[in-house]
Order: sequence, then structure tokens, then C-alpha cells
Amino acid sequence: MLRLDAVTVRYTPGGVAAVDNLHLTVEPGERVALVGPSGAGKSSILAVANGLMLPSSGTAEVFGVDTAALSRREHRATRRRIGTVHQDFALVGSLRVIHNVAAGRLGTWGPLRALRSLVRPTDRDEIHAVLERVGIPEKLWYRTDQLSGGQQQRVAIARVLFQQPDLLLADEPVSSLDPTRSKSVLDVLVEACEADPARALITSIHDAPLALSHFTRIVGLRDGQTVFDEPTRVVTPEMLDRLYAFEDTPFDP
Ligand code: ADP
Ligand code: MG
Repeated sequence: MLRLDAVTVRYTPGGVAAVDNLHLTVEPGERVALVGPSGAGKSSILAVANGLMLPSSGTAEVFGVDTAALSRREHRATRRRIGTVHQDFALVGSLRVIHNVAAGRLGTWGPLRALRSLVRPTDRDEIHAVLERVGIPEKLWYRTDQLSGGQQQRVAIARVLFQQPDLLLADEPVSSLDPTRSKSVLDVLVEACEADPARALITSIHDAPLALSHFTRIVGLRDGQTVFDEPTRVVTPEMLDRLYAFEDTPFDP
């Protein structure tokens, strides 16, 4: 489903590697948590995984195809199969919630249907149902920029649920939510994966207990490198503590 082979990302030529010679393979059915301090490279890895960014060196394959070699058509087809919850939500504030959620399927709709949906949403019941799953059904017709940060985060998650992608990528999807909400939103993402064994979920997350409770595998990152990559059952809270300890000093295993 995803194969990163010796992937390095540099934002400036010759600059520090945000992702440093990383190997990561994710199979259908896996739920992978990326953990590690700020600046570890989690967002950069997710940007490479969804094809938004090409590696400076190494190769990134999604669904068996090198993201650097996609034709425009393949690129579009691939994007439809990948759903991303961005760290900054990437919603259009001036649109109503229903339209932001509907945008999850813009990739599969022709431009005409996409445009018409702005006037007469075709999938209103289904959108209402996904908003129910994330706990804000009453916000269907609200302008998105009138919602709190936590509510907007749930709109972004509803959009990806409505999209029903094969590969679900989420960049700190519960960072704006209180503990109870965080758990229930992760429950929903896990359910979405379990509903279809062909799906995989890759999420960056800072909350160690939630990483341990909702994911099948945990990848600990620091300075763009993998510190550990283990099935959750062998990951201890101490391993996670150590990853975050002394954020400003080099990692000493
Ligand atoms: P994380 O998501 O784990 O906090 P990021 O992938 O955002 O990590 O960042 C990894 C490194 O890349 C950091 O040192 C960060 O400063 C740098 N970086 C991230 N985005 C950019 C950018 N757009 N331009 C320059 N440097 C960046
Ligand atoms: Mg980040």
C-alpha cells in the first residue's frame, strides 16, 4: 500500500534532512501511529505518502506505483484513493460544513456534479450520518469558520470518512480535541479501517496512551529517522517517554 525506500526530504538544497533515509512499508489492514517530538518529520512523511511532496532522494510508492512517475491521470486516480486529514484541517471557512464534507468526493465527481453540490447537496443524508459519527450532526448547515477549532477538526475527519479512501492519512487529527473527544474520534477512524480490511491508516499523534490503544504498530521518530518501528504490543510507555525526553538533545538509545 505504501513503500518508502531510503526516502530523504530536504526543504532547502544542502539543508537539514527533515526525513533522513527512511524506510517504511505499510500493508492493508495496518494502523500505524507516527510518534515523536515536533520536528521529527511526521508531517513531511505524510506529505510524501500522499504524493503532495516528492522525496529529495529515495522512492515513494503508493499502491505499487512510484509517486515520482505518475501520469496526471494516475495522479488523480491515486489522490482519490488517499484521504488526508491535514494538521491545519485545510477547510474552506466561507463554505458550509456540508460542502466541506462533500468535497471529500470531489475527486470522484465530475466538475458539473461538484459545482451543483454547492447548491443542492446530493448526499445530504450520508453527510449528516458521518457528522453524527464525529459528534456534530447539528452543524450541517453552519458556516465552517463559525465553528471552534475542535469542531473544524471533526469536519476534516468527516470529510475523509465521506471520501472512503483506501489509505487514510491523518496529521495529528485529535490535537484540538479534549481527551473524551479524542478517543471517540480515533474510535471512528479505527472503525472505518476495520470496516474494510483493504484499508490502512497512518496517523501522527502525540498522545502516547491513545497511540497504544488505537494502533497496531508504532513508529518512533526523531530528527527524521526511525528510532523504533514495532507492533504495539511490544511498545512500552517507557520507550515513548524516552523518545520525547530531552527534546533538544540528540537521541541516545
Ligand atoms: P513534525 O510533523 O514531526 O513536527 P515536520 O515534518 O513538520 O515534523 O518537520 C520536520 C523538519 O522539517 C523540521 O525541522 C521542520 O522545521 C522542517 N520543515 C518542515 N516544513 C518545512 C518547510 N515548509 N520549509 C522548511 N523546513 C520545513
Ligand atoms: Mg507535524
